[in-house]
Amino acid sequence: MQDLGRQFDVVVIGAGVSGCAVARELARTTASVCVLERGDDVCCGTSKANSAIVHAGYDAMPGSLMARLNVEGNALMYELAKKLQFTIKSIGSLVVCTSERDMDGLRELFARGVANGVPNLEIVDRDTLRSMEPNISVNAVGALWAPTAGIVDPFGLNVALAENAAKNGVRFAFDAPVTAMERRPEGGFALETPQGRFLARCVVNAAGVYADQIHNMVCEDKLEIVPRRGQYMLLDTTAGSHVRHVVFALPSAMGKGVLVSPTIHGNLIVGPTAEDIQDKEGTDTTAAGLAEVTEKCGITVADVPLREVITSFSGLRAHRAEHEFLIGENPSAPGFVDCSAIESPGLTASPAIGRMVAGIVCDILGLGERAAGEFVETRQGIPNMNDLTYDEWGRLCEENPLYGRVICRCCHVTEAQIVDAIHRPCGARSLDGVKRRAGACMGRCQAGFCTPKIMEILSRELPGVSMETVTKAGPGSEFVFGHVKDAIAKEGCTHE
Ligand SMILES: Cc1cc2nc3c(=O)[nH]c(=O)nc-3n(C[C@H](O)[C@H](O)[C@H](O)COP(=O)(O)OP(=O)(O)OC[C@H]3O[C@@H](n4cnc5c(N)ncnc54)[C@H](O)[C@@H]3O)c2cc1C
Repeated sequence: MQDLGRQFDVVVIGAGVSGCAVARELARTTASVCVLERGDDVCCGTSKANSAIVHAGYDAMPGSLMARLNVEGNALMYELAKKLQFTIKSIGSLVVCTSERDMDGLRELFARGVANGVPNLEIVDRDTLRSMEPNISVNAVGALWAPTAGIVDPFGLNVALAENAAKNGVRFAFDAPVTAMERRPEGGFALETPQGRFLARCVVNAAGVYADQIHNMVCEDKLEIVPRRGQYMLLDTTAGSHVRHVVFALPSAMGKGVLVSPTIHGNLIVGPTAEDIQDKEGTDTTAAGLAEVTEKCGITVADVPLREVITSFSGLRAHRAEHEFLIGENPSAPGFVDCSAIESPGLTASPAIGRMVAGIVCDILGLGERAAGEFVETRQGIPNMNDLTYDEWGRLCEENPLYGRVICRCCHVTEAQIVDAIHRPCGARSLDGVKRRAGACMGRCQAGFCTPKIMEILSRELPGVSMETVTKAGPGSEFVFGHVKDAIAKEGCTHE
């Protein structure tokens, strides 16, 4: 099919990790592909607010899609990180048992992991556990050790997938929520957005917590996605080494429980809760939720330095009653492919999800691969000053003096990195966009010092963007509402 601008072989709805992983895989084929995203950027939904653990894969039920894609995704993720240059660390995870009574539960988890094909699992005793994790609770009696688990930069993963997809010809439309969709009599779909109508032969539904609304527009069976909120506290980098591995409690029916883990940016994360709510935008934190996190993190880890909390946040799992990914073409709507109910471990599974969904689309449309060498497999990441020696940093400054202007003092992010983040394919257009790509604003001051400087850079680098129209995260989140002098003049005040 000829690409007529708004007419595509495939439209992917949603630019989270799932949609971007699918889009990147489809970019290997001859299909014309467009991603429609309701937010102003990639990584606006659940992909930006989660534990960011690369799960080993012992948690999901053997035989489930979740289990298979988790283990496959884990294996693919480390290789993908090298190709696309996002940050990942293989630090391993421990599921800690704090009572002899519960050791059977731990052994069950071990058996499940073995059935799922998770390599190198081991049950470690109290002494081994203590030597691995000195701050473990005194009540800990043993743990399930999974060396293939890790931590990842979730923004970096999502942005890298999108950038590489765009580099390979995928189009992205932001601020483009799909508000209606219908099947066309001649086949395919017509999708309505505030940016006009898009036509597609095939649609991939990767709309996160909104996937039920999209599904129910064209499918006869009805889908219900319940937002299951998880609240977190993030601690300063001074607390980042309180644990060395991802430390979980034994999982329950509501999920994997409260974890304590280092993050890829050197902080310590504690959480999440698991609360079913109605509001698909309900990402607020509550006193009760944070109190629960405070209490539960102490079950597995001693003396968590909670005075070091620098921020709190929450994310929404796209939960459905079956607690299973929903992936496949819907029989009542040929060409409509769900990539829905991608709750945890969706981040880990994303490379495998991308392959699986793209495979389904290829079968539906009879797509072939692009000619050899046409698909660019790799991506150059934005250099991170924290990974460089002073000499290496100095050499960068000689090439580009903007590497010598530190804008974010907490995280050592320079003007050169911010400018780079803005001018890449699918580049940053807001403060949060800069944060997710260049790693600014993530430190102790939580953007208190660097916000005005980043606003200046955004308004200088982006055509048509002034200080008044720079946003934190898209329309409605502007920082500046006018000039103080104008307000004074209007009010008739005088300065004394
Ligand atoms: C508390 C919590 C902890 C988690 N921890 C982990 C973990 O440690 N490891 C792990 O592997 N997984 C984890 N997950 C799961 C993981 O974060 C998700 O599975 C994954 O991010 C889902 O990605 P997605 O692309 O499917 O959805 P999203 O990231 O939500 O993307 C969906 C996108 O669709 C867009 N959209 C919605 N409606 C429309 C519309 N009408 N038109 C256009 N666009 C639309 C949204 O704006 C959004 O950008 C966790 C999740 C939560 C909530």
